[in-house]
Amino acid sequence: MNLFRIPEPYYNNNIKIAEHFNLSEFTCPCCGRVMLDKRILDYLIEVRQRFGAPVIVTSGYRCELHNLHIGGREDSKHLVGQAVDITKRLTDDLKKFREAVIQTSWKYPIEVVYETDHYHIEVQDENP
Ligand SMILES: [Zn+2]
Ligand SMILES: [Zn+2]
Repeated sequence: MNLFRIPEPYYNNNIKIAEHFNLSEFTCPCCGRVMLDKRILDYLIEVRQRFGAPVIVTSGYRCELHNLHIGGREDSKHLVGQAVDITKRLTDDLKKFREAVIQTSWKYPIEVVYETDHYHIEVQDENP
């Protein structure tokens, strides 16, 4: 059941932010707003480099309405641009993708959570 009227995105974030990433990939699908922690971007750039194939962002920034709509956690780091969900193309190698995701995480303040069809990546609190 659709409880919310989801407006058309009204921001245009078609901005290249790295060789293989565009800001629009990280925007909230309902409103087009975006926040992105640079540590997430730096991490993704290295995963992309190790993997050698596209890293697909399935969820980046979420506004509160969208997070509620999809049943995200109330304290989700997607709400502040400190989390992304990523996957690979169907035809690319899963083992290689997993290795790139895990090995890169050792170098960044990043936590990786495997969620059946994607990896949830979030910035670790530096002073927990
Ligand atoms: Zn939104
Ligand atoms: Zn997530």
